[in-house]
Amino acid sequence: MKYIFVTGGVMSGLGKGITAASIGRILTDMGYKVVPIKVDPYLNIDAGTMNPFQHGEVFVLKDGTEVDLDLGHYERFIGEEVTGEHNVTTGKIYMSVLEKERRGDYLGSTVQIIPHVTDEIKMWIRNVAEKSGADICLVEIGGTVGDIEGMSFLEAVRQMKNEEKPEDFALVHVTLIPLDLGGEQKTKPTQHSVKELRSIGLQPDIIVGRCKERLLESTKKKIALFCDVPVEAVISAHDAEEIYEVPLMLKEEKMDEYLIKKLKLEKRESKKTWE
Ligand code: ADP
Repeated sequence: MKYIFVTGGVMSGLGKGITAASIGRILTDMGYKVVPIKVDPYLNIDAGTMNPFQHGEVFVLKDGTEVDLDLGHYERFIGEEVTGEHNVTTGKIYMSVLEKERRGDYLGSTVQIIPHVTDEIKMWIRNVAEKSGADICLVEIGGTVGDIEGMSFLEAVRQMKNEEKPEDFALVHVTLIPLDLGGEQKTKPTQHSVKELRSIGLQPDIIVGRCKERLLESTKKKIALFCDVPVEAVISAHDAEEIYEVPLMLKEEKMDEYLIKKLKLEKRESKKTWE
């Protein structure tokens, strides 16, 4: 099983979900079976009890679970239906850990975030991935790097990086490239968010820069230099007319070629039929 984790830097609402769904589509087109998982680091069990004015509309899965709209993007982009298991929340993880604690499963140990909560997160992700029979598991970590809520999930990702082979693990970091008052693309927020990731032991393999217009070559080079990634691993995700153009945009940016290289994939014949 290969794992691709997608994190977000600087702020939310950047298009992390659309980027993750687009990566899923690129890999599906390459003939791989992809299973998506969305991590939402809130304590609610699911989005069903959340005020729509606060959280926005929910997406209803085939088993009735109410989840974030990103799961809908995954279903449409990848062409696979998912269930509530594909949405991991802090609430679900804690509920499972606390049930185990009450049953005495931890045999008297002091139950802690590390290792008990992080083990539960890793187990959940691996179970859903293995059960699906997919080749690649795509995990989007909701929220922004540096949020206290997301820390246990990012620690679980760090542990998985060490437990999986290098060719079975990739970290894609989606970040904002704002324009200054003179219209120049600025890389400082990206540098800071990558620094934040590094401080918890994670280094992105690919950096996706969300910006108004295509990232300039000079901007890409600066990000590559400061964030320690090859320049071809800096991908422009500029504003699209509509979100369904984003997979094509990522392909144009040769993200598929970089993923092939990083994950040691070979191109297959896609057997997927889109109905
Ligand atoms: P996040 O997961 O980072 O919170 P989403 O993936 O939900 O963000 O995207 C936030 C909004 O940005 C959505 O309304 C989506 O349609 C829009 N969006 C994402 N990527 C692009 C893009 N490349 N061009 C234009 N709009 C985009």
